[in-house]
Amino acid sequence: MPRDIKRIWSQETYRLLRLVYRLSTRWLASSLPNRCLLCHQSIQAPDTGICLVCLQTGLYHTPICLGCGKSMQLEMNYCGECQKHSPRKVIAPCSYHQGLGTWIGAIKYQGQLAALPVLCRALVARINHLEQQGLLTLPQAIVPVPLHPKRLQQRGFNQAWLIAHELSQLLTLPLIGEGLTRQQNTRPQAGLSGAQRRRNLQDAFILDDDFAYQRIALVDDVVTTGTTVSEIARLFEARYIHVQVWCLARAEAPGLLDDLDNG
Ligand SMILES: [Zn+2]
Ligand SMILES: [Zn+2]
Repeated sequence: MPRDIKRIWSQETYRLLRLVYRLSTRWLASSLPNRCLLCHQSIQAPDTGICLVCLQTGLYHTPICLGCGKSMQLEMNYCGECQKHSPRKVIAPCSYHQGLGTWIGAIKYQGQLAALPVLCRALVARINHLEQQGLLTLPQAIVPVPLHPKRLQQRGFNQAWLIAHELSQLLTLPLIGEGLTRQQNTRPQAGLSGAQRRRNLQDAFILDDDFAYQRIALVDDVVTTGTTVSEIARLFEARYIHVQVWCLARAEAPGLLDDLDNG
């Protein structure tokens, strides 16, 4: 058999097997009782993954600085320290360290997607709340942090794309999955210093010349030191495109996050 045909055939087989696996796990999941991942109480459909009590316990309960993620007394954009330099806004419904973090990690590492819709709805509630308070302007489009094609093939999905897709449905905003690409398969960011992280990601992404939007939300699952999103935002901002960052959780203490390979 010619090598090309062999390669195409094996790709098709792989895709078919993956489809069968997905359909069978979905069928299995829908036939099992729906229980909360944290407290194991049963959950009423259509909710899945995390019950409302556990969700409420894990979400932010005070105003949060959109720059550094610090808790604040009053609802404002930034804490006193961040007001001096007005950093890029990062919007998340919770801290990675407050109980929901494990399940956000499980989305990426175990393909455990049960908590994804409920966490996306919590993020949308926070976005809407900030917009009503006049602290946020909605973007024109949502852009997920891309995975390198090789990594995508290994993992089978891009968690940032799945989150962005859910958000685009909930907010009826266009999802732009093309235009921004990852051209280098960088090594995981875990365990690297700030300078090493930046060096590791240098020129890792490219942005198409004809990207047409002026205000975007860049979506990732977790934002730790923000190196990845900063590296991407730099490309947009060089073309005067406004960037805000949306994620399911932010990790304020990156030293605690050696298990994550985000930036
Ligand atoms: Zn629960
Ligand atoms: Zn701050």
